Amino acid sequence: MLQRVLIANRGEIAVRIIRACKQIGIETVAVYSTADRDSLHVQIADQAVCIGEAHASKSYLNMENIISAAITTGAEAIHPGFGFLSENAQFAKLCESCGIRFIGPKSEIIKKMGDKAEAKRLMIEAGVPVVPGSIGEVTLEEGQKIIKEIGLPVLIKASAGGGGRGMRIVREERDFEALYRAAKQEAANAFKHDGVYIEKLIIDPLHIEVQVIGDKYGNIVHLGERDCSIQRRNQKVIEEAPSRLDDELRQKMFDAAVKAAEYVKYENAGTIEFIVKDNAFYFIEMNTRIQVEHPVTEMITGIDIVREQLRVAGGKPLRFKQDEVTFNGHAIEVRLNAEDPKKDFMPSPGNITLLHVPNGLGIRFDSMLYTDYEMPPYYDSMMGKLIVHGFSRLDAIRKMRVMLEEMIVEGVPTNQNFLTMILMHSEFVKGNIDTGFIAKHIKELLNYET
Ligand code: ADP
Ligand code: ADP
Ligand code: MG
Repeated sequence: MLQRVLIANRGEIAVRIIRACKQIGIETVAVYSTADRDSLHVQIADQAVCIGEAHASKSYLNMENIISAAITTGAEAIHPGFGFLSENAQFAKLCESCGIRFIGPKSEIIKKMGDKAEAKRLMIEAGVPVVPGSIGEVTLEEGQKIIKEIGLPVLIKASAGGGGRGMRIVREERDFEALYRAAKQEAANAFKHDGVYIEKLIIDPLHIEVQVIGDKYGNIVHLGERDCSIQRRNQKVIEEAPSRLDDELRQKMFDAAVKAAEYVKYENAGTIEFIVKDNAFYFIEMNTRIQVEHPVTEMITGIDIVREQLRVAGGKPLRFKQDEVTFNGHAIEVRLNAEDPKKDFMPSPGNITLLHVPNGLGIRFDSMLYTDYEMPPYYDSMMGKLIVHGFSRLDAIRKMRVMLEEMIVEGVPTNQNFLTMILMHSEFVKGNIDTGFIAKHIKELLNYET
């Protein structure tokens, strides 16, 4: 088993990983930027090392400093969390070559699956259905040819993309060239790689993803699916498990996800993302890391995914077989952000003057907040995740409403009321949700008093 782990991340996920390590007796090393001196992950870790200035490129993306911190503190493994270096194959490789275990899949798998265009090619080989479109990255001319073949509208996507960024919808052929160039430019700026590929735009699909986990002995198990259709600008806002798919389609997706993971000999935790429309499902990408929304799966399976990640990274086999994974009730997660929905969701970090979090059976708050915490402006605006578990979807919805009603976060604008409006919306309650839900109902959802 691992003895000491460095957590190369910040915020709620660093806190969550540190807690999991402590529970199983693993010593923890936090790293932090100069802007994060007072953050919770630094306070609860056994040791903490400053790795650079506030800007992520100087600290949380600074591979040399992170590796040095691991070596000097004697950490044998690094957990990358999500975002930052979590899907950076070069970093995973650097860990491997320095004799440090990277808690995730092997660097070559990250490389293969992190290139979204290449990953689709592999999935076609594996026999997993993908969204129709180009095979691999395209030049302008190839793109023009593809749109004639598959028809408009299409989506231009960055092969290095993530976090809902770097996508362009093309509805008219005459707009293609300008949008192609804009997408390439945005991809170059955001991801330092400007390759793009083309996909048929599926109108208002469901986003359904399957959690998988594998060990080094070739065992791969899925932990069921999550519905992450409640999105704003292709970014998830609310996630739930299970989805409302019928059992036949659900089983087909489980089989496809396991087949996909087996095809690339996947190790550790990962997620196969699909979009679903008219009873058909299509692979869109694989995330080779722990995801923001993993707690909803934990709630319905009773499996602590981060602990399992640590376990398999330490060389142990998976603790359970597929038929030992059972699903109970329904879980919902909302992402609480420091942002002002009424000002076009403008990020609004600042001082948390008061925090009150309700409690009870099947209620969880994954967060780095504390009263008088100063949220630095340099990073993501996510302040935490509220997660509830109920015996049914409606029970979970009700529980979440109670929680949101009682919860108090003062000092900065948040999306708390906006989240409540979604939980109260009759179409949400009926389960009439798809990735267009927020855009479709935005007027009603913003109609609350501040
Ligand atoms: P999920 O939410 O399903 O875990 P996302 O792709 O939305 O997956 O990303 C998880 C987190 O990592 C988000 O907080 C997002 O802002 C961040 N993230 C993802 N990709 C990038 C990227 N390329 N650059 C910066 N942040 C990213
Ligand atoms: P990211 O790497 O940013 O997470 P994804 O490829 O996972 O990007 O897509 C993010 C979201 O964008 C999806 O959940 C879905 O809502 C939307 N999306 C992606 N591809 C398509 C598509 N071909 N048609 C319609 N919507 C799509
Ligand atoms: Mg995605």
